Amino acid sequence: MIPIVHRNTGWIEVICGSMFSGKSEELIRRLRRAMIARQKVAIFKPKIDNRFSEDHIVSHSELKIPSTNVESPWDILEESLEAQVVGIDEAQFFDKDLVLVCQKLANMGKRVIVAGLDQDYRGEPFEPIPQLLAVAEYIDKTHAICVICGNPANYTQRKTEDKERVVVGASDVYEARCRNCFEPPEEVRKNVKLPRRPEKEEKGDRK
Ligand SMILES: [Zn+2]
Repeated sequence: MIPIVHRNTGWIEVICGSMFSGKSEELIRRLRRAMIARQKVAIFKPKIDNRFSEDHIVSHSELKIPSTNVESPWDILEESLEAQVVGIDEAQFFDKDLVLVCQKLANMGKRVIVAGLDQDYRGEPFEPIPQLLAVAEYIDKTHAICVICGNPANYTQRKTEDKERVVVGASDVYEARCRNCFEPPEEVRKNVKLPRRPEKEEKGDRK
């Protein structure tokens, strides 16, 4: 998928999509290929995500690859100085400094491959993925299959009533849905499903 030969330059690749769309699987596939070519690979995920395995990235299909758990994106920078290829999974759980760190790594000549959820359970952009998409050289959007109707799924439906943005879970908590079948929580439904042009403010009404 990357037809261009890079010479003396780094770059950023982002793999994003809903849950169950194969993001981690695709990340692992790219990292494995780099390892087979004997490139130095460093792989990270945020400490929050210990859902299947403490020191591995694991896809839902049970592919896995060793990784280091880190708390801050800056730890990634410190621990990948020797690497030629840097892989980062579950990137939506890092703060916005991840964008600075990825830029720095790419500017140092490294290939940076980032996988993460692009929308939260409300169907709203999940920072810092949108910011990363803007600066990435290559973007792949992966799709799951809607469990209701079989269309390509771009949304992650939370099956519980939890209101926190981060609730770690797999098919016990989430399922993939298409645009038609996705049901965002009540408080964001009108913004996500049927946004309207805001009412014009009356003159003199401003504070
Ligand atoms: Zn559907």
